[in-house]
Amino acid sequence: TANGKTDLEIAQQTKLKRIEDIAGDLGLLEEEWEPYGHYKAKLSLNIMKRLATKPDGKVILVTSINPTPAGEGKSTVTVGLGQALHRLGKKAIVAMREPSLGPTMGVKGGATGGGYSQVLPMDEINLHFTGDLHAITAANNALAAFIDNHIHHGNELRIDPRRIVWKRVVDLNDRALRHVVVGLGGPAQGVPREDGFDITVASEIMAVFCLASDLQDLKQRLARIVVAYNVDKQPVTVRDLGVEGALTLLLKDAFKPNLVQTVEHTPALVHGGPFANIAHGCNSVIATKMAQKLGDYVVTEAGFGADLGAEKFLHIKTRFSQIKPEVVVIVATIRALKMHGGVEKEHLHIENAEALRAGLANLQKHIETIQAFGLPFVVAINRFITDTEQEIKTLTNFCEKHGYPVALAEVWEKGGEGGLDLAKKVLDAMESGNSKFTPLYDVNEPIPDKIRKIAQIVYGAKDVEFSPKAKKQMTQLEMLGWGHLPICMAKTQYSLSDDPTKLGRPTDFTITVRELKPSIGAGFLVALTGDVMTMPGLPKRPAALRMDVDENGNAIGLF
Ligand code: ADP
Repeated sequence: TANGKTDLEIAQQTKLKRIEDIAGDLGLLEEEWEPYGHYKAKLSLNIMKRLATKPDGKVILVTSINPTPAGEGKSTVTVGLGQALHRLGKKAIVAMREPSLGPTMGVKGGATGGGYSQVLPMDEINLHFTGDLHAITAANNALAAFIDNHIHHGNELRIDPRRIVWKRVVDLNDRALRHVVVGLGGPAQGVPREDGFDITVASEIMAVFCLASDLQDLKQRLARIVVAYNVDKQPVTVRDLGVEGALTLLLKDAFKPNLVQTVEHTPALVHGGPFANIAHGCNSVIATKMAQKLGDYVVTEAGFGADLGAEKFLHIKTRFSQIKPEVVVIVATIRALKMHGGVEKEHLHIENAEALRAGLANLQKHIETIQAFGLPFVVAINRFITDTEQEIKTLTNFCEKHGYPVALAEVWEKGGEGGLDLAKKVLDAMESGNSKFTPLYDVNEPIPDKIRKIAQIVYGAKDVEFSPKAKKQMTQLEMLGWGHLPICMAKTQYSLSDDPTKLGRPTDFTITVRELKPSIGAGFLVALTGDVMTMPGLPKRPAALRMDVDENGNAIGLF
């Protein structure tokens, strides 16, 4: 804990500004924001019209090395860098994902940063926030109900009940719901069929929500979602069911970006949060674009390491939004690098420069990836109090030897003050004008070629193998006219390979694509490598066991 305080204690002891002051700082007109309580607001989409001709702010993308159980602190660095830029007098805005309740109750810390670099009110953001995830759950499940209702009332679309690909969702980790049977109880209760639940953030509606550029685009994307196949194996879409209008209506308020503030009152837009494996893992396009209109610098992050999050940001999010990052921050921790160098989690507190040097290969690979995209970068060392001077020197020496810009970030312990060096180096990197962003593949290439380029250039794989099932599916996807879509890789986040136990920089490995799944509303083809969990379970001792409320209604034990 920073200063011996938990994240929640720091959050609760911070005197927040009223949200009207934050809205005022951003120059918002009164009718452009709606308060949700005293410290949260929804922002009107009309802001985009009023500021249409204002030049866009510059986007700084925060990514990391492959995550380990040691924790990387991407969100923490994202918030801390925003605060540091703010301290340097820049109009900076943080744009982040909103957390899912499932993992909050289950395993890890929240998704709101940590220490003195958090977005607030962290308890509300981590719990129900402004209800966006509930709205997405409702829209997802309304669609499920419309499908079953259609079948019950005669099934005009000839939907094959065994080929329904739309699942129900709930925003919890609940393994008991992975496989269910619905429609039991006789003819009045619908048509029995096998179904299942995913966690809300895995819903295609979440991905659609995060890629839509405005309400009309949201509706068009929802209409394209494939929910099932008919008895002739042809796709059945939301448009066929005629419910895209209703679904858009259910989402219209959720679609407005949420304004909050950081520990140091830097404005933050926290909006949307899709999975980073079966989806693209970035906050909403609409919030990022709005942040670009409201500020000169937007600090945003993408899920997992640069092999997944940044690759998808750069191939999927940029493609649909024209958002181009100017610079990438690659977060690394001494602890995680030591794990990549072979140290067990229990021994991370012990100084070990040799393991650290071995682990640097992982960082090196991600740097090469960002260079392949033509983007300037800065390595941010997210400092833990257990890191020794010797270890930090080993890492900075490595960077300096190769000419990689590097900064020590002490934003967890010190807030924006601890990120000033990082902020200056990020500004320098942007001013160098070296951003020559180029995607690594063209969408019009054949599906296997696109996947191969990602695997070889980004993961360092020797080759890609496709299962017989995947090969058949690729032919079907091409036939249905979906071959030109970008690829969304679903791979373990822990390794550059598809084997989570291979840390560091594995070489001489092959990636196996098992299956392909079209997400036509979102606009990408998901290529699944290992098993991907779309409904997580809870651990034996879930984080919920520590949670409580005091007699004044304040949260206890939320990290
Ligand atoms: P990521 O975005 O990479 O998942 P987070 O920023 O959410 O990581 O951080 C994960 C957890 O690690 C949080 O609980 C945070 O408080 C903690 N953490 C992050 N950076 C540090 C640090 N430098 N020292 C101690 N704890 C940290």
